[in-house]
Amino acid sequence: MLDPAAWHGVPQEASTGALPGWDRVEEVVRDAHARYADERRGSVADYIPVLAEVDPELFGLAVIEVGGGLHDAGDALHPFSIQSISKMFVYALAIQEHGHERVREIVGVNNTGLAFNSVMALELNDGHPMNPMVNAGAIATTALMPGATSVEQWERMREGLSAFAGRPLSLDGVVYASEAATNDRNRALGRLLRSYGRLAGDPDEVVDVYTRQCALGVTAHDLAVMGATLADGGVNPVTGERVVSADVCRDTLAVVASTGLYERSGDWLFEIGLPAKSGVSGGIVAIAPGKGAVAGFSPRLDEAGNSVRSQMAVGYLSRALGLNLFASSAVPHPASSPASPSAPLELS
Ligand code: GLN
Repeated sequence: MLDPAAWHGVPQEASTGALPGWDRVEEVVRDAHARYADERRGSVADYIPVLAEVDPELFGLAVIEVGGGLHDAGDALHPFSIQSISKMFVYALAIQEHGHERVREIVGVNNTGLAFNSVMALELNDGHPMNPMVNAGAIATTALMPGATSVEQWERMREGLSAFAGRPLSLDGVVYASEAATNDRNRALGRLLRSYGRLAGDPDEVVDVYTRQCALGVTAHDLAVMGATLADGGVNPVTGERVVSADVCRDTLAVVASTGLYERSGDWLFEIGLPAKSGVSGGIVAIAPGKGAVAGFSPRLDEAGNSVRSQMAVGYLSRALGLNLFASSAVPHPASSPASPSAPLELS
């Protein structure tokens, strides 16, 4: 439910390259939290049993600047499972390991236009996943993690995602157990990929690593740090550690721009103009390259599985902070200056 009325009347600021000063960002983050405090539309995910038990009122926001400035509001430090947002960071790690072309060939870079757990999308494309930000493509991406065993792959992945967050992330065992007991559909996707010859290794083991990556515990603050690392050419702005290359960030963000909110990615890009990734536990992180990242967490979802309140608040923040990649405002034109030597163009 991406409702443009959510930021009706908020002027579309266009920034020329930097976030406004720390104080202004802090003020806008507080405003955003207050503005959507009473938003209650949508419903929590229940296809993973334990997610249905979460407090639907939780609402956290965080902005991290590439210069290291930090802003948190509300439940920004409340832990939840990262879910689909892991796909973006695992994809970055896979490109770092195997390169742009190989991952593009194996997984693809296009939106399927179908739901995140679609089986039909695979069948329609000869088993090619097409899109690394939905389950089939993410499972194929997980299979690319380095490691001789699935235990090693999981450990490498956990370390990589922790480097993005700037702190050791750990598995939420309750969410993992709940999803592992009910993930027949993802196991079916794994086996289908295998049947098309598009998955190396044991599909059940790959899906197990994928289920673990989705159950990694994070906060909205963590998501903003992780996103800000992609905004900062691959260097974590809080720890100073290089996690991936700048090329990997560019590739990842290009794919996420058209796929990050599943089949609603076009609506999001049209309204907000930033690459963003969402997950069924209610998180969203939007990345403004060269500036920072904006994260939201609130469990109630729309029909596509995107948090209603996080979309609104992250959308508001992106707009108020001047982050839309497609927005510009005219600079004073040299031809209009009396000092300009150039003659006006003659149009015939
Ligand atoms: N773990 C979830 C699943 O595979 C992730 C989906 C999501 O966040 N959209 O179904």
